[in-house]
Amino acid sequence: MKLAPIVSEPKSPSYDVVIVGGAMIGSSVAWFLSANPDFDGRILVVERDPSYEFTSTSHTNSCTRLQFSNEINVRISQFNAEFLRNFREHLGGDPDIPDIHLHEFGYMYLADSEKFADILRESHAVQVACGAQTRLMTPDEIAAEYPFYNLDGIVLGSHNPKDEGYFDGNTMFTWYRKKARENGVEYVTNEVVAIGRTGNRVDSVTLKSGEVIQAGIIINASGPRAALTAQMAGLDVPVEPRKRYTYIFKPEKPLGQDLPLTIDPTGVTMRTDGVNFMCGCPPDDDPAVDHDDFTIDHSVWEEKIWPALATRVPAFEAVKVLNGWVGHYSFNVLDQNAIIGPHTEVGNFIFVNGFSGHGFQQSAAMGRGASELVAYGEFRGLDLSPLGYERIATGTPFLEKAVI
Ligand SMILES: Cc1cc2nc3c(=O)[nH]c(=O)nc-3n(C[C@H](O)[C@H](O)[C@H](O)COP(=O)(O)OP(=O)(O)OC[C@H]3O[C@@H](n4cnc5c(N)ncnc54)[C@H](O)[C@@H]3O)c2cc1C
Repeated sequence: MKLAPIVSEPKSPSYDVVIVGGAMIGSSVAWFLSANPDFDGRILVVERDPSYEFTSTSHTNSCTRLQFSNEINVRISQFNAEFLRNFREHLGGDPDIPDIHLHEFGYMYLADSEKFADILRESHAVQVACGAQTRLMTPDEIAAEYPFYNLDGIVLGSHNPKDEGYFDGNTMFTWYRKKARENGVEYVTNEVVAIGRTGNRVDSVTLKSGEVIQAGIIINASGPRAALTAQMAGLDVPVEPRKRYTYIFKPEKPLGQDLPLTIDPTGVTMRTDGVNFMCGCPPDDDPAVDHDDFTIDHSVWEEKIWPALATRVPAFEAVKVLNGWVGHYSFNVLDQNAIIGPHTEVGNFIFVNGFSGHGFQQSAAMGRGASELVAYGEFRGLDLSPLGYERIATGTPFLEKAVI
């Protein structure tokens, strides 16, 4: 279907649902809601950055894992894995929708202490009970399968070869957005600059261009700007932009096999990326940054990333950096996990925020969950209520031990 160009002005003065932010999460919510036969309301998506250049979505490493310590996070990623494998069918069978590539090299958590090894053992039990194929590996077992690692000081590894690795989330995003639009969702290039509220209900958004649009429900899908959007409604959410570094490199000598997404005890991650390799980490000093600050501190590569690479995989002593970037996590300061659900008092303001490092892989479950909240007032597929706003209101962290 040929779609009209996206303009800045909404067609209508009033919508049942206004979604603030139309990147991975906002577009997933928009598609799930527009595809729900039990919902026939009008949906507006307001997106300030139509190039998506400065979004988390454009800076992601696009990986998915089942290796969490909490059942709900495992189930969310299992849903994502099933959803992406059958993406075309789920989106209605359009033959133009390509297969979504999933490169299952698995994540390899490496423990250099008995304390962390115990966490891996406990998490392993949770994952296996959910049907995951995670295996705990002794250093000898790791060396037999992945002889390129230097395993000095490593006491245990945890690796899952199924439903873990890189997935082509950007293609999913493109098609969520396209199919949502085909289903009648209206996207506009504009910015929400104010939110109207009467008592415990939000009722309108004001756009940068001046229009005031009535809204039955407002969904906050504004990524690292989630707190700014919440503040417009007089609400708080503990989400802030934090820098995360990514580099693509090529070693002088090939490894000859896939490098699992290795979680090194230093906090540096590294993995296969096609014929090259990708690595990344947070900076040691990790403050909230300005929403527009994407400057790169190259000492992070020199002093943190490269030494960790060369230590863990001696073949990476000689590498050529091909590319590098800084992106923003929408960092949930309370517990680095998703916040999905209505505000505890302002019930028609719904948060879908705070994903920190695992929002890309959670987009399908979050889109479905938010659409269920709108259509039915409750979760139906997966009970996502442990990730609701109540814990934010009471300051009670959702404890997830596998945070990257
Ligand atoms: C370096 C890096 C690596 C990552 N790696 C992974 C990974 O391997 N796996 C994984 O699952 N996740 C990963 N993530 C996290 C993942 O990318 C994010 O959780 C996900 O992309 C979040 O999508 P989003 O739509 O919530 O946010 P965003 O992509 O940031 O989108 C928010 C949108 O809201 C818009 N917006 C904001 N305010 C307004 C406003 N007032 N009016 C209109 N529009 C507005 C913005 O322009 C933007 O388009 C990574 C993130 C980074 C930075």
